[in-house]
Amino acid sequence: MNRVTLSFDNGPTPGVTERVLSILERARIKATFFVIGKKLDDPAAVALMRQAHAAGHWIGNHTLTHSIALGDRPDAAYAATEIGETQKRIGALSHPDKLFRPYGKSGLIGPHLFSRAARSYLLEQRFCAVLWNNVPGDWKDPAGWVDRCVADVQAQDWSAIVLHDVANACLPRLPELLDRLANSGVEWRQEFPENIVMTRGGACINLPAAYIAD
Ligand SMILES: [Zn+2]
Repeated sequence: MNRVTLSFDNGPTPGVTERVLSILERARIKATFFVIGKKLDDPAAVALMRQAHAAGHWIGNHTLTHSIALGDRPDAAYAATEIGETQKRIGALSHPDKLFRPYGKSGLIGPHLFSRAARSYLLEQRFCAVLWNNVPGDWKDPAGWVDRCVADVQAQDWSAIVLHDVANACLPRLPELLDRLANSGVEWRQEFPENIVMTRGGACINLPAAYIAD
């Protein structure tokens, strides 16, 4: 049976995240919300993060500004601010493993993902950096993303899906996706497949040099 882990990036977004939460509750699925630090300037976004946490979802760190990838601006101060300032804002709602997902520039995998300084920071501060392996493009292809996501789930043993709790993304077709996956008999998991875990507990798990800028 194919395993599926769901995550929602780039929120919290008032008007969207609460609806994603009700859909997940109805489907009895626990996910991870990778939040953008800047968005937590809005108390309504903080309230949604709390609501997600209270419902049993995990809260992860998805950088402060989500603007320049860590590998594209390799100085140590940038990495420390992007990661550390967001973690401060998440505070006690953080998953105990300190989940972190880098900004991938539309789900791309490559040397832009991490800098050497970012890797050192993630190791020293004992973050669990996780990537993804199923990015169906909910924000850019409203007609095609559900089919692509289902096909990618069937093509691999364990999918770590990235969707987005922002306007004009997964929300309108999220119930359809969950129904189709449920009907195809997937096993829902909240934890992430080990092959997309880059660092954990101060150790490199699967972080290749090809994901780190020179
Ligand atoms: Zn993102």
